[in-house]
Amino acid sequence: MLNRNVVRAALAALLLLVGLVPLANAGQSGELRTRNVVLIVSDGLRWQEIFTGADPSLLDEAHGGIWDKPQDLKREFWRDDVNERRKALFPFLWTTIAAHGQIFGNQTKGSIARVTNGFAFSYPGYNEMLTGHPDPRINSNEFGPNPNISVFEWLNGLPQLHGQVAVYASWATFKDIFNVSRSHLPLHVGWDPPYPAKSGPREQLLNELYATTTRLDDEDVYDSFMQIPLLDGIRKQKPRVLFVGYGETDNWGHAGRYDLLLHSAHSFDHFVGQLWNTMQSLPQYRGSTTFILTADHGRGSGLSEWKEHGVEQKGSENVWLAVMGPDTEPLGERSHVAEIHQAQIAATVAALLGKDYRNAVPAAAPPVADVVGRSR
Ligand SMILES: [Zn+2]
Repeated sequence: MLNRNVVRAALAALLLLVGLVPLANAGQSGELRTRNVVLIVSDGLRWQEIFTGADPSLLDEAHGGIWDKPQDLKREFWRDDVNERRKALFPFLWTTIAAHGQIFGNQTKGSIARVTNGFAFSYPGYNEMLTGHPDPRINSNEFGPNPNISVFEWLNGLPQLHGQVAVYASWATFKDIFNVSRSHLPLHVGWDPPYPAKSGPREQLLNELYATTTRLDDEDVYDSFMQIPLLDGIRKQKPRVLFVGYGETDNWGHAGRYDLLLHSAHSFDHFVGQLWNTMQSLPQYRGSTTFILTADHGRGSGLSEWKEHGVEQKGSENVWLAVMGPDTEPLGERSHVAEIHQAQIAATVAALLGKDYRNAVPAAAPPVADVVGRSR
């Protein structure tokens, strides 16, 4: 028993060391240009909306629970042509990312992206994408501090990246998911005041809104409130590895408000474009930043199950993945490709930075090879 433990410990130490060595030939052309990676999640945003836009059967009060006038919602988000329709909902995704990156998960075109954790709700999904493997113990959003190390915590432990990893997310539970007391990652989450008490009038105003705005969910701040300190953090701290978690697409689904779900999905697209353009305007990020976009789970389908997700709602395991950056071939919307899994995201984040996460965490799934390295 003792011998086996010693061997195991030595092996683990060796694997950690190997993980510190950059991948010799990660990209098809060898050298990667990515110096910064941003992983962005829109909680519970379905692949159906991503690829086919607004669902016509939910643009009413009876099934979509909408308060808007249906004709107003249709003017904004309905187009007869499916490509125009999805572009009306996600203009940045379907113009910029589709032109310069890759998008997986359109099941109508033979591309499947799915979670493998068997639960299809948030904590198990974030654990799977961030650590690279599902963990059957994590079967509740109230699980508590994550025993697993995320790829962000691992990258933050590397000398070249230490202190250059940051997390901005609307959901307070990320304190547990990233195990903040162990990882010591800088987290800006939930309704915690985003700025120190002694700051300028602009910052004090946002602190006041955080304190006084009526909360739909005590654990989840509005996406627009989080976007401001996020953009400030980009300009001031300039993190090289960044996690951004938007939560409203899930909350408005649970609330049964399809109109607000569409508006928050549209805002998510705007926030991603704003983040991309802000980063491209800064020398540290220009031409050297890769974005990875995804969802932590899907949802059910039909006239009522779109509101919820989990094992009860069929199809909740289906998600989507979009990647854009200097090392990702501009193949656009992918069709008839091999199935990809949420667990592959962790190693993909590391691989884009030239690091082999699986040497440190052998249980992690391999990177999505198609998005790492260009054959130019
Ligand atoms: Zn949910």
